[in-house]
Amino acid sequence: MNLNIEKNKDLTNLLTLKIPARAKYFTKIKDKEELKEALLFAKEKDLEVFVLGGGSNTFFKNDFKGLVIKNEIKGWFVKKEYKNKVLVEAFSGEPWPKLVSQLVSLNLYGVENLASIYGTVGAAPVQNIGAYGVELKDVFESLIAINIKT
Ligand SMILES: Cc1cc2nc3c(=O)[nH]c(=O)nc-3n(C[C@H](O)[C@H](O)[C@H](O)COP(=O)(O)OP(=O)(O)OC[C@H]3O[C@@H](n4cnc5c(N)ncnc54)[C@H](O)[C@@H]3O)c2cc1C
Repeated sequence: MNLNIEKNKDLTNLLTLKIPARAKYFTKIKDKEELKEALLFAKEKDLEVFVLGGGSNTFFKNDFKGLVIKNEIKGWFVKKEYKNKVLVEAFSGEPWPKLVSQLVSLNLYGVENLASIYGTVGAAPVQNIGAYGVELKDVFESLIAINIKT
């Protein structure tokens, strides 16, 4: 296994609210293969899994007894260009506000109202982020997900 699994990890500085908490196991993933490795580790040890993005909508009531997977799968690209629009594919660990400002700087508009919302691309559809009359669902096409349980 190439993953660095940390034990008894202090999560406080990874959470915007800075409410102290520890994870029994913790790892960072940079691609899909590392995610699969992390999930296999959790399965072998029968651990609950928590996927952490930017930590801006998360606090733990108690220490977490499972595996926290910090998602750092980054990047984005224009997947398809149409006459009046583009389809952008972004990876789930990409910081959302950075993606928005890069799109806006390329004159690709549609998400600019969601500019300063903290967090990652992957968390955005989890709660359908929204601000100033725009919600992610207005521009969202589809996502690729992994079923953690199976
Ligand atoms: C000051 C401030 C202002 C905010 N303003 C707004 C606002 O205007 N509008 C708005 O909608 N929200 C707002 N939020 C909330 C926050 O920005 C969003 O909830 C954001 O989507 C959280 O992203 P995150 O990566 O930090 O998620 P985290 O806090 O890391 O995770 C949140 C939840 O999503 C799950 N999750 C994260 N990544 C994934 C993934 N890849 N796959 C599956 N599940 C995942 C986590 O397990 C957790 O349950 C604000 C937050 C703060 C602190």
